[in-house]
Amino acid sequence: MAFTYDDSNIFARILRGEIPNDTVAQNDHALAFRDIQPKAPRHVLVIPKGRYVSFDDFAANATEAEITAFMRLCAQVCTLEGIGLETGEGFRAITNAGTHGVQEVPHFHLHIMGGAVMGPMIG
Ligand code: IMP
Repeated sequence: MAFTYDDSNIFARILRGEIPNDTVAQNDHALAFRDIQPKAPRHVLVIPKGRYVSFDDFAANATEAEITAFMRLCAQVCTLEGIGLETGEGFRAITNAGTHGVQEVPHFHLHIMGGAVMGPMIG
């Protein structure tokens, strides 16, 4: 199943201000907000503001400015949430893509989770 960008997806609606979100930080090209159903004490989603379906779409097609802004916002989230390696505790950053990745929302997002020891990746 090919994933194509659908402007009605929930993260596109968040970016358009149609539904609220709990913003952690943002910059010109990316937005970070809390997951509505957190799977860890700290669970933040980082999304590009551009129309990218998945990690591989973003990695292949985003501009260098978009990629840099996205990564810098990820680092900022780790610092703001107190889960960066400077705390000595760390975090997990994952992205789900497509059917086998069990991606629910077809707008690229990185999950940044911390605040507790994470469980196994699968199983
Ligand atoms: P995926 O399986 O990687 O696509 O995960 C989508 C994530 O988006 C899930 O962890 C959901 O809890 C989260 N989510 C869905 N709708 C909202 C929302 O409106 N605000 C914040 N997070 C959401």
